[in-house]
Amino acid sequence: MEISSLKGIGPKTSKALENSGIKTIEDLMNYYPFRYDVIKRSNINELIQDDKIIIDGIIENTPNVFYFNKKMNKMTFKLNIGSYLLNVIIFNRAFLKDKIKIGSIITVIGKFDKAHSKIIASDIRMGKLPSIPIIEPIYHSIGGLSSNQIKNYIYSVDDFNVTEYVPEYLKEKYRLIDKKSSIKIIHNPKNSKELKQAENYLKYEELFLFMLKMNSLKLNKSNKIGLKRNVDKKSVMDFINKLPFELTVDQMECVNKIYEDLNSSNRMNRLIQGDVGSGKTIVAIIALYINYLSGYEGALMAPTEVLAYQHFTNLKNIFKDYNINIEILTGNLKVKEKKDIYKRLKNKEIDIIIGTHALFSEDVTYNNLGLVITDEQHRFGVNQRGNLKNKGITPDILYLSATPIPRTYALTIYGDMDVSSIKTLPSGRKQIITILKKNKEIKDVLLIMLEEIKKKHQIYVIAPLIEESDKIDLENVNELEKKMTTAFGKICKIGVMHGKMCKEEKDKVMEEFKKGEISILISTTVIEVGVDVKNATMMVIFDAYRFGLSQLHQLRGRVGRNDLQSYCALISDKEKERLDIMTKTNDGFKISEEDFKLRGSGDLFGVRQSGDMNFKLANFKTDFNILVKARDDSNQILQNNQIENYPKLVKLLNESVNLD
Ligand code: ADP
Ligand code: MG
Repeated sequence: MEISSLKGIGPKTSKALENSGIKTIEDLMNYYPFRYDVIKRSNINELIQDDKIIIDGIIENTPNVFYFNKKMNKMTFKLNIGSYLLNVIIFNRAFLKDKIKIGSIITVIGKFDKAHSKIIASDIRMGKLPSIPIIEPIYHSIGGLSSNQIKNYIYSVDDFNVTEYVPEYLKEKYRLIDKKSSIKIIHNPKNSKELKQAENYLKYEELFLFMLKMNSLKLNKSNKIGLKRNVDKKSVMDFINKLPFELTVDQMECVNKIYEDLNSSNRMNRLIQGDVGSGKTIVAIIALYINYLSGYEGALMAPTEVLAYQHFTNLKNIFKDYNINIEILTGNLKVKEKKDIYKRLKNKEIDIIIGTHALFSEDVTYNNLGLVITDEQHRFGVNQRGNLKNKGITPDILYLSATPIPRTYALTIYGDMDVSSIKTLPSGRKQIITILKKNKEIKDVLLIMLEEIKKKHQIYVIAPLIEESDKIDLENVNELEKKMTTAFGKICKIGVMHGKMCKEEKDKVMEEFKKGEISILISTTVIEVGVDVKNATMMVIFDAYRFGLSQLHQLRGRVGRNDLQSYCALISDKEKERLDIMTKTNDGFKISEEDFKLRGSGDLFGVRQSGDMNFKLANFKTDFNILVKARDDSNQILQNNQIENYPKLVKLLNESVNLD
């Protein structure tokens, strides 16, 4: 049912909700609270100024109501709580005026202005507080609605549809309650025991479906025989020997493994883990070269356009003396350009294609695709990983990832993959010096920046991305530009890059930065992954607390890319303790472990926005036991085609896992 059919929802609100992705009543019911408040009567003597207060009392006078600003109103009345008389102020509840009668009992929730014996109420309810505490859901505001409004809409829903995915026998096995009840309880739990039961179903279902997708992907892969090639090792070594640097031992090890994988008849399914700057790209390039020598097309997929173009330029350069056709395909190309690429791919005129996920859009048909490499693999969701349409043959797969994953979790997620690690950085690299400063200490940072500019080095300045609705006062890109221009505008050129710019604009700025024409590049996290400018020696990150540690580590990895001493300045007034870890270590693995401990999986995988691992309730860390069960149960169902007995699951898999 459409959200607009809900009573009490006007066209404006339903539009706003629709724009935020809540289109149906089911969507609304699937919008879970992010936390709960326990409501019980406050002991007024224990409260201090501005504390949260929950109290019931008797209404002493007829409320006063003031209307202003067209739709706003303010109501005030006095509340007798026995020992005190409190003034209550509440906004936009004039519609309750008639219910607030002298002598009746109500409950008020709000902020306690002790100095003025006043409550700024956020909610009032008729009647006494119950003697047992209430658990109250709190929602992130969406579509301009407050938590309370969302709750009220949810409570006004009579009925809604659910698709219950967990098979009956598993529900019995774990004594799970049904899904519909679980969702109702999630929004309105009577007590914590009931809430836990509801969470149990919903978490289990999330993890079960996740593992089902993962395992079905794996099953599909391992059932397939790969390509057998016959490439002479000598021609590979000749190529390697012509590179401008010598491979590290770990890089060479990876190359050997890949060479063996490709030359055997087993299908390659390998993950290369290596810290930022460890040199994974060159390993990928060598893999592409081996694949080319054996007569197949190769594809390299990057998570962002900036990165795709960087790979494109890099490969063009490395292969300039070879007769290899390299092309790029991203979403931003004009239709005509895309069509041209599609045609040439079909006609076998392209040897190596680089791009974003546009590489695997519906319209692309490969001819003879032998190798698919996904850079910064952790940035893609499961679906995208599987979303590879290829006519007839099953290419070898190589993933590159800069986010090391603790082993247990890796086993669950990447259980079927071979994993190689690049542990050492290319020689000659210096440790990046990382400092943590408060906003008021910005001068210290500016001084280092000045030194670097004098040395003709370049600097990245990161401002967190601003969502339009976000009212939190962050340094936005423009403000930063002003500040930087005031400080350095006279001595160097400052460039700006953000997500709202079109590709041409971004390219132009990036090009200028690469050429060294721009000294300071102010940007949102669009430069986060993979960007490689060797002369950049300093990374300044404003509001660093907004980022996960692994993300910060990725950002920091943009500098320190040669033998120059590099710096990273984190600016933050908050979360000093967490951010301090960054100043103590440059080891990505340690950092990701810390991140994992502190924040669970979300940040570790850096996939907040990329769907599959973005659980609403489940958490890889705290719900690891459920995850392991879900893994085993889903595996069992996939064996012997038992899954055919569960049409809902089959349908779901067909929809989401669109495998080669
Ligand atoms: P990442 O693993 O983060 O993707 P890159 O592949 O971008 O790192 O490599 C970082 C930089 O190190 C690049 O400029 C690359 O040319 C350089 N590089 C890679 N391998 C070596 C090596 N063995 N010796 C010296 N420099 C190297
Ligand atoms: Mg890289």
